[in-house]
Amino acid sequence: MEVQELQEEIRRQKEEKDVVILAHYYQRPEIQDIADFVGDSLELSRAAASAPQGTILFCGVRFMAETAKILSPDKKVLTPYPLAGCLLADMADPRQVEEAKKANPDAKVVAYVNVYAEIKALADIICTSANARKVMEKMEGEKIIFLPDRNLGAFHVRTMKGKGVTLWNGYCPIHQGITPQSIERVKAQHPQALVIVHPECPPEVTEKADFVGSTSQLLRFVEKSDAISFIVGTEEGILHQMKKTAPDKEFLLPDPVPYCDQMKMITLDRVHKALEEGIYVVDVEETVRAKAEQAIRRMLEL
Ligand code: SF4
Repeated sequence: MEVQELQEEIRRQKEEKDVVILAHYYQRPEIQDIADFVGDSLELSRAAASAPQGTILFCGVRFMAETAKILSPDKKVLTPYPLAGCLLADMADPRQVEEAKKANPDAKVVAYVNVYAEIKALADIICTSANARKVMEKMEGEKIIFLPDRNLGAFHVRTMKGKGVTLWNGYCPIHQGITPQSIERVKAQHPQALVIVHPECPPEVTEKADFVGSTSQLLRFVEKSDAISFIVGTEEGILHQMKKTAPDKEFLLPDPVPYCDQMKMITLDRVHKALEEGIYVVDVEETVRAKAEQAIRRMLEL
């Protein structure tokens, strides 16, 4: 089937089968266009929980679909491709986290939402790239283990006082690949462009950027800014929403372009198949789910 035909068929089936489709900002444009909601992982999980539909088809990587299941245990959650993982989430192993907790019994574990359910269940509280600093500042006690993204942790910790934060040595290879050189190559051709980047980028990039923010914050920034040209330091999928939000502005990407193969494993064909056949169901074991939910709810209460 042609793209448009497939999109029409997906739209028809999702209505008929009472399914809400959610897509992360890093998804392919043709998938973002058939979604009921496009957002970052936590926004989407909250949208999933409040959606009236009984089934959620989550277009994103596995930990995102899991987060939706954690917050909506009574709904059926489907993923178009269960092997779409996250290289950052893979860097936090439950056994290593348990060992770190034993070695630091008075430290609180703050886990970025980009981890699997088992790690969320071991954390005291979850945070997002937008609220990591606020969450750490509000934690009781002075010692924190922040995982798994060392860049996100370092970005917030450098302006924070009164806490001893141990950073896990994980990183997102896609954002780690955004270097000062990859930005300068583009800036040389477009000197007027503002450099806006995600906090998962390495410190030598975030320190020099004009603005640092989560995907949602980057989107709001380009909408409100008086500037007309931006070099966007995050996964290229975000440009689809940026162009829709601010069609008269210019959006450029670092060279080489940051591209997440895992996110792009979700294709229109796979979305169609999952919808048609009711596969693949995402489940999280109940003890793990309940603990993980507690850690997420603690953040939401802040
Ligand atoms: Fe994971 Fe990085 Fe891909 Fe996001 S861009 S899904 S953090 S590997």
